[in-house]
Amino acid sequence: MLARQAWRIICNPGALWVQILKGLYFPDCSFLEAQKEGRASWVWSSILVGRDIILSGAHWQILNGSSTSIWADKWIPGIPGGYLRPCLPVPVDAPVKVCELIDWNHGVWNLLPIAHLISQHELNAISAIPIGRSVSGDQLVWPWVKSGNFTVKSGYNWIVNQNIRCPLAHAQSSHTISLDTWKIIWESKTLPKVKQFLWRAVSNILPSFLNLYKRRLSTSHLCPICLESPESIEHMLVLCPWTACVWFGSAIGYRVDLQNFTSLDRWLGSLLRGESMFSPNSRWILSVVAFTCWHIWKARCNFVYNDIPIVPAATRSRACLAVSEFWNVTKKPVLGSVGMPIQISSPHPSHWLPPISSYVKINTDGSWKSGSAMAGVGVIIRKIAGSCIGGLAAQDIRFLKASFTNLNWAWVPREANRSADAVASLARKGMCLESWLVRPPSSLVHILSRDGLPCPPPGA
Ligand SMILES: [Zn+2]
Repeated sequence: MLARQAWRIICNPGALWVQILKGLYFPDCSFLEAQKEGRASWVWSSILVGRDIILSGAHWQILNGSSTSIWADKWIPGIPGGYLRPCLPVPVDAPVKVCELIDWNHGVWNLLPIAHLISQHELNAISAIPIGRSVSGDQLVWPWVKSGNFTVKSGYNWIVNQNIRCPLAHAQSSHTISLDTWKIIWESKTLPKVKQFLWRAVSNILPSFLNLYKRRLSTSHLCPICLESPESIEHMLVLCPWTACVWFGSAIGYRVDLQNFTSLDRWLGSLLRGESMFSPNSRWILSVVAFTCWHIWKARCNFVYNDIPIVPAATRSRACLAVSEFWNVTKKPVLGSVGMPIQISSPHPSHWLPPISSYVKINTDGSWKSGSAMAGVGVIIRKIAGSCIGGLAAQDIRFLKASFTNLNWAWVPREANRSADAVASLARKGMCLESWLVRPPSSLVHILSRDGLPCPPPGA
């Protein structure tokens, strides 16, 4: 419904109510260029989402060509997506508006200034567009109904059809987003605004610097935080180095697999591999992922627009708190809450994995003998590359909490926890009731070596 309001704003820029909105939300630009500010209302945010849906499906009808961008707007009906895809970088002195490509004296296209930048197919498609003689500005047309005017029903049908059949025209690769991915988003246990955000992220319509650069709305495509890679949606939310700390510290203890990461939608699907998206465990994982993405996005925007420094631990804490509050308010059974062990179904580590840099990993396990009061707790502390920095066999490890500013617990299978399991057994048997630094007991050397770390041999 709010997409319909967005359409009315586009078609009635001079109406009084539109002018009031303009004064409130986009005083210095057009509605099509308006960005969501930090304190935008839910209604305004939703209208902007509706606008983006319209822009994804509509195209510009050229009348005098003065308001349509050659490179950023969708205006060529004869090519997939409707956008030009220049085969070379567009020079700064290249024509910008469509009217610059029209020879008004003879009423024909003059495509020489851009002929070397685009394909022959695109040249032919532009040549086939009739040139108007209108003095009025170009019009946005919704091509999925005869009248060209957006309707809620046609908008809904277009979204459904696009999701099923059409590759996203603006996606980095032309793969199709599966229906399951959209279900994952709309069924996820999170706030409506976070679902909309995820939808925009997977649809690749968030204003990342790469997307703005493609539309010539930014002079740089680089990530403003690491300044090393283009800021795609994937880089912004999962691949930028600072986000690795947030994901690892999140309630699912996720370790980003840079080698196998392809796209955001495939990554969302891979998190649930082998398990129904409706299982309680899946719902919990998706909730954590959704809130974590949202708070990474907010931290990134605060950095870009408000000069607020990036603090991964603070972002992690806000995401964890948001998940916890949401599940508490909705009174759903919580399988894993902040500080409690949870099980992430995929990827199951089949062996021990070292932590990311700047973190240490603490493996712990308990051992007891049924029918007796004998019990023990084992702890192994390791850092990046697996070097051992300490261990402990004791009865109670809660005191460890005071030694860390950020601490996150996550369940791992025994295959990934063999060293702590062995120490716990030693502690139960009353052996090795001690702590150590750097040099572990000799009985542990073979297990620690199997985890792949450079373990100093006893007595060396
Ligand atoms: Zn980055």
